[in-house]
Amino acid sequence: MSTKSLPHFWFEPRPWIDGQWQTGGETVTVHNPATGAKIADVTRADAAAVRRAIEGAVKAQRAWREASAVERGNVLKRTAALLLARKDEFARLLTAEQGKPYAQAVGEIEYAASFFQWFGEEARRVYGRIAAHPEAGREYFVEHRAAGVAGLITPWNFPIAQGAKKVAASLAAGCSAVWKPAELTPLIALAVGPVMAEAGLPAGVLQIVPGRGSVVGGVLAEHPAVRVLSLTGSTATGSTLMAAGAPGIKRVSLELGGNAPFIVLPDADLDFTTEQLIRLKLFVSGQVCVTANRVFVHADIESALTEKLAAKLNAAHVGNGLEDGMDAGPLIHRQACTEVGAVVDQAVAQGARIVAQNRSYESDDTLRAGTFFPPTLLTCVRDEMKVARDEIFGPVIPLLRYTRVSEAVRRANETPHGLAAYVYGRDLAQCHAVARGIEAGIVGVNEWRPLKAEIPFGGIKQSGIGVEGGEEGIREFLEIQVISMPKPLIQDS
Ligand code: ADP
Repeated sequence: MSTKSLPHFWFEPRPWIDGQWQTGGETVTVHNPATGAKIADVTRADAAAVRRAIEGAVKAQRAWREASAVERGNVLKRTAALLLARKDEFARLLTAEQGKPYAQAVGEIEYAASFFQWFGEEARRVYGRIAAHPEAGREYFVEHRAAGVAGLITPWNFPIAQGAKKVAASLAAGCSAVWKPAELTPLIALAVGPVMAEAGLPAGVLQIVPGRGSVVGGVLAEHPAVRVLSLTGSTATGSTLMAAGAPGIKRVSLELGGNAPFIVLPDADLDFTTEQLIRLKLFVSGQVCVTANRVFVHADIESALTEKLAAKLNAAHVGNGLEDGMDAGPLIHRQACTEVGAVVDQAVAQGARIVAQNRSYESDDTLRAGTFFPPTLLTCVRDEMKVARDEIFGPVIPLLRYTRVSEAVRRANETPHGLAAYVYGRDLAQCHAVARGIEAGIVGVNEWRPLKAEIPFGGIKQSGIGVEGGEEGIREFLEIQVISMPKPLIQDS
């Protein structure tokens, strides 16, 4: 078994403002969640540093928005190429800091690069229009223009991909951006700064300010130059940020929590469904807003599916993501393990049964200080249990029995969230009908990971406002200006 190492840092663990690493100030220690080993002390940006970052971004935006769309796009596309060329180094850093297995980390770097590539192309496709004026001799110019400075706030589960979606879209639109990564995973974000400089991004167009959510978020929300607040995080943080931005009438773009239903229809291919559901639930150890949170299984296939899921879950390799062949890593911190454990214990106390639990990481003594939670399969789960009502954010598969498909759809929609959903079955017409019946921003039919740069992704209900990706994603960072003009006449001199 070979263990990959942390790469040499090509960046410094400090705020990146106007193309410079900022010194001084309070620090926070980042640890590897698999082993507990210290990785770095990271300097936090305080309120004054965040204001400096915003003011630098205001100055840098003037030239950036006037650069041609082709030039802006080329910087983004070069960033994509550099990320792909260096994906091994980035992935090792990401695994060390976040805990996900190396192969998943490589996948995240490729996914991040795909957004730089996509928005690098989309930068050239911002079209205005000329509209008819009701009065003769006049016409309207409808223009989409960069909104200004964008405040970007990202979580720790996909610390580079969530940033890439926002950075690429905002910069393609001609905005400058101030990016606040999560406190637990700031390094991979800071690693992007010099790479974008190498790709040709002028200093100040992207400022990266690690720090406390309430401090950095507070300054971004109140500073008048910040015109868009884009957050991926919990619904509670989304609500707080919206309220903080309300006095300044900030635009918000919010990707928030989910409670995804995964409906297994009676005719589903059970081997295929098992393979896909286990992949989905082990992906980042279930710490994913679009992971399956409630698995609705038809009564006729419940025992057969349970048996297959248990066998597959027990065969998974759970351990240090820097070692070869891991299917799942640790949770992000001890508190996460405690919370997931409490939800499982409560479900069991209310009648749920644990039918499989994978503790394979326990055989590795180097992981004693790691924050692991055993992937767990639960049966006899009922809708009213906390494990089904709330987002679990851990590798727990709760099976809920249903007898009629319309009942499964109704129960799937009984949540304030509406982010992702999954439908598995052989009859595609039935799958499509079920997918249409579900209130969610994206539905994967016989597909565990439908998110791609090419499509708009966003939640409905309390799962968010706005979208990322697709041709729509750039609009979050554009505002409309209409100019009403007399039609110029030919002058004969
Ligand atoms: P998670 O539960 O995934 O950690 P959070 O919503 O707590 O989600 O965090 C997502 C991001 O929001 C992080 O970068 C965090 O620091 C930031 N954050 C937390 N509180 C606030 C706040 N009050 N204002 C702005 N950002 C915040």
